Amino acid sequence: MRALTGHQPSPTTGEDARGSKIIKLDIERVAKALGVEHVRKADPWNLKEMQNTIEEAMGVEGPKLVIAERVCTLQAIRLKQYKPKVMYRVIEEKCIGCKLCIEFGCPANVFYAERNKAAVDPSLCVGCGMCAQLCPTKAIVEVVQ
Ligand code: SF4
Ligand code: SF4
Repeated sequence: MRALTGHQPSPTTGEDARGSKIIKLDIERVAKALGVEHVRKADPWNLKEMQNTIEEAMGVEGPKLVIAERVCTLQAIRLKQYKPKVMYRVIEEKCIGCKLCIEFGCPANVFYAERNKAAVDPSLCVGCGMCAQLCPTKAIVEVVQ
């Protein structure tokens, strides 16, 4: 975790709420010190990798830990550590109105009930590509900026 919902630092960011340097907490090492042998990391933007990592952990006896490792995107943009290279859009003809992308919960995915079609709000999309991975008809595609 590199930021909390209010963008304040966490024990893993190496600084406290006043911006002073502190020792960075390594969650993996803490878990191992507590006796958790099965510790895995996965990129939450990669849905398949995340799913496989969680499923693998579920098959392991005893305590286990899966770390979803990625910097908070809004924080990374704010700190100029990340600039979206691609954005996404919906090809309307391919959209079957299943709303899977809407249920996913990204605020950039919007739905037009009158047309039964989804869309991506370009002012909110950060280019993670997760909705595109979810879409059953591959209606959500990259737009190179
Ligand atoms: S997941 Fe794909 S098909 Fe379903 S509503 Fe979203 S864009 Fe349309
Ligand atoms: S690519 Fe990511 S940020 Fe953009 S609409 Fe899809 S889920 Fe949201």
